[in-house]
Amino acid sequence: MPVDGLNHLFENNRRWVAQMNARDPGFFQRLSRQQTPNYLWIGCADSRVPANEIVGLLPGELFVHRNVSNVVAPEDWNCLSVIQFGVDVLKVRHIIVCGHFGCGGVQAALEDRKLGLSDKWLQHVRDVRDKHWDQLGALEKSDRFNRLCELNVVEQVFNVAQTSVVRDAWSRQQEVSIHGWIYAIENGLLRDLRISVTRPGEASQQYQSAVKNLAFPKEDVSVENT
Ligand code: ZN
Repeated sequence: MPVDGLNHLFENNRRWVAQMNARDPGFFQRLSRQQTPNYLWIGCADSRVPANEIVGLLPGELFVHRNVSNVVAPEDWNCLSVIQFGVDVLKVRHIIVCGHFGCGGVQAALEDRKLGLSDKWLQHVRDVRDKHWDQLGALEKSDRFNRLCELNVVEQVFNVAQTSVVRDAWSRQQEVSIHGWIYAIENGLLRDLRISVTRPGEASQQYQSAVKNLAFPKEDVSVENT
């Protein structure tokens, strides 16, 4: 029996299974045989940014890695293993790095706030902050926070493109592209940060133009109006 206070999660689970079976009776049996996701999602662990729900994908359709502030660090075997499995075994066609506005990890990094153990992890985001301080320092405080959320995504896209897993895939002509997106918790909308790397040699140019052309907050307004 589940611990008191957690029963509702099992009830939710049974209700969900019933709904899925009603919609598609063979769903779980098919899934148990294999997964063939086209996409790898690298996102923040924030509970408000549930990967599958945001993009309307079912179990089996999205391979997911989440950590604090969607960081792709060269020494992080956890994230690198997910990328390797996704690219080499599952043959995902797209790797999406998705950050979000209002990210607590990014804010802590921006303000040099101490959180505890995760301070070490957030050094990766502080490095992004320091690297782009010329741009960030010229902005108003709230814009600076939003822009660092965006720049952090751009940097992580570049990091994915530098991994040996992705480079080896490209060298054997395997199609895999890397994209940078950001999610706005306050309206549920995703925005493409216009960085998509599809082959080696493209990463630097895509990175440079993305860093220059990030459009916050203008584009947010147009998204809401359309
Ligand atoms: Zn976050």
